[in-house]
Amino acid sequence: MLGLMQRQPLSISSLLVFAERHHGDAQIVSRRVEGDIHRYDYRALAARARRVARALDAWKLEPSDRVATLAWNGYRHLELYFGVSGSQRVLHTINPRLHPDQTTWIVNHAEDRVLCFDMTFLPIVQAIHAKCPTVRRWVALCASDRLPAGSGIPNLVAYEDWIVAQSDRYDWPVFDENTASSMCYTSGTTGHPKAALYSHRSSVLHAYGAALPDAMNLSARDAVLPVVPMFHVNAWGIPYSAPLTGCKLVFPGPALDGKSLYELIEAEGVTFAAGVPTVWQMLLTHVKTGGLKFHALKRTMIGGSACPPAMIHSFQDDYGVDVLHAWGMTEMSPLGTVCSLKNKHLDMPGDTQMAIRLKQGRAIYGVDMKIVDGEGREQPWDGKSYGDLLVRGPWIVDRYYKGAGSPLVDGWFPTGDVATIDADGYMQIIDRSKDVIKSGGEWISSIDIENIAMGHPAVAMAACIGMPHPKWDERPIVAVVKKPGAEVTREDLLKFYEGKIAKWQIPDDVVFVEAIPLGATGKMLKTRLRGEQLKDYRL
Ligand code: ADP
Repeated sequence: MLGLMQRQPLSISSLLVFAERHHGDAQIVSRRVEGDIHRYDYRALAARARRVARALDAWKLEPSDRVATLAWNGYRHLELYFGVSGSQRVLHTINPRLHPDQTTWIVNHAEDRVLCFDMTFLPIVQAIHAKCPTVRRWVALCASDRLPAGSGIPNLVAYEDWIVAQSDRYDWPVFDENTASSMCYTSGTTGHPKAALYSHRSSVLHAYGAALPDAMNLSARDAVLPVVPMFHVNAWGIPYSAPLTGCKLVFPGPALDGKSLYELIEAEGVTFAAGVPTVWQMLLTHVKTGGLKFHALKRTMIGGSACPPAMIHSFQDDYGVDVLHAWGMTEMSPLGTVCSLKNKHLDMPGDTQMAIRLKQGRAIYGVDMKIVDGEGREQPWDGKSYGDLLVRGPWIVDRYYKGAGSPLVDGWFPTGDVATIDADGYMQIIDRSKDVIKSGGEWISSIDIENIAMGHPAVAMAACIGMPHPKWDERPIVAVVKKPGAEVTREDLLKFYEGKIAKWQIPDDVVFVEAIPLGATGKMLKTRLRGEQLKDYRL
């Protein structure tokens, strides 16, 4: 017997319709590429998103046609999020920090029909347009007076002209909730990138999950700053969770330096911000150097790579800002776990509580997880046994776009991470399986080694990699970038590890480097560190 409830399909456009009706005057503030601050509200967003939908109709784009973006976090990008997906096309957000050859590959693989770009990225478009035959139209996200003469790009229009020519009356189509809504390619550190193809259903369910109190805890009383880019797994779903809750949205545009972010946080009364650790490092340095304070900021969500303990301490102890450590992947829309405490933790001593806060956290309802050994046997949830982490759920990929075969193992998606899970369900990433250091049959977590180094006052950044060793197979070494003006020796740092981890886990060497290469999403690129900077290094 089937239930007798209404079968209204879950759709991205319904989020916008809801926000317009219930939170029409809630603000959306953007720092623009043009340099100024732009302000409007959900009502204006909804009207302009409808113009986008009509403009795509006018160009006779078919359902499921891909519309790509190369854009910062801002209101025009948000209009495309709703106008494109809401009108049954697929929004393809491209990471502008990729190499142009990789961007060309991605555009051709996705067979994008239209590509919309912020003027910052004009040079990328000039470099790739001739190699992207599927793209029929190029849209510069600006007004026509900013369009450069003689750009060499055929069929180039200014976004403002393109949408203003349309009426803002439009009825969002109703279709199957499993219809594709958007796509995002993984950064592809090995081989070609692979695309996760999200659906309306997966995006709306994820938006509900992300907004929950033990996850982002979003409400109409919040002002939310997604520093995590809209080209990186949909800014962790914030563009969808925000209209669902009616919170104020604050977009940083291209200005991601500590000073600009701080000014925006203070001026707009931001209560919740989300981003990767490298961004927060810059913000904290700015705040510390200037002896500044946060006045409204209550919580930050930090994820994408492991959050160093020193950062959690600093946010909490120096500024009274709660850190929510989170873990996820492109293939998971992206949220999997968020670390918020349970009642029983609240009275625990600081150190015990910190040990929990450092974990990547508990699964959100909708994400099922388990750890398995090399033979696929499930490992106990005791906080010690580790294994390959597998996940499943309605916002986790089933297959990749144009992918051959299924990536799943018995219905579970292998994350490529190695983790422990404790009795309360708190998951902790030990390492990526390819980064974990295998020394004499035992595993050493590169994250642990990096976290300890980052706790030293002279260290700005640390990356631990395994080096081939004749006796132990691999031994850890740590590459360190010193803070400007700070001094520390190899011996000091090695001594700093004593008593913090087992003797055999202490790195064999410390190598000082000018910089650690970062990938397109701000994560350390250990492959390049190993293959280029330290290619002649021998233990
Ligand atoms: P890519 O693999 O393309 O860089 P993702 O952004 O999807 O893309 O990266 C997902 C991976 O990032 C996870 O599998 C995990 O290894 C790492 N990661 C994400 N969040 C955390 C975290 N809080 N702590 C440690 N690692 C993390």
